[in-house]
Amino acid sequence: MTPWELKIRKAENGYTLSWLDETDDGLPIPRQAVVQEDEQHENPEAQAAADMLWQVLEFFNILGSKHDKHRVRVKIEHGHGYECTGCEVCKE
Ligand SMILES: [Zn+2]
Repeated sequence: MTPWELKIRKAENGYTLSWLDETDDGLPIPRQAVVQEDEQHENPEAQAAADMLWQVLEFFNILGSKHDKHRVRVKIEHGHGYECTGCEVCKE
């Protein structure tokens, strides 16, 4: 059975995701995933938040496919009023 409950905890440099999985014998087993800020990224905080949200979509199996009419994406973008003259995020 797929677990449908996820706990997200903010850590100093990222997030910890934890949930209760089940072994083949049906016994509960705790699982954990860590999302860390990548200090090489231009905006590590935004990158970690986006990574964490991607994992949430993946966890609940709601990533969708490229053939879907609509699907949820996670994207880092500039504020409407910000005029970028070129940055790492725009290049992605
Ligand atoms: Zn930019």
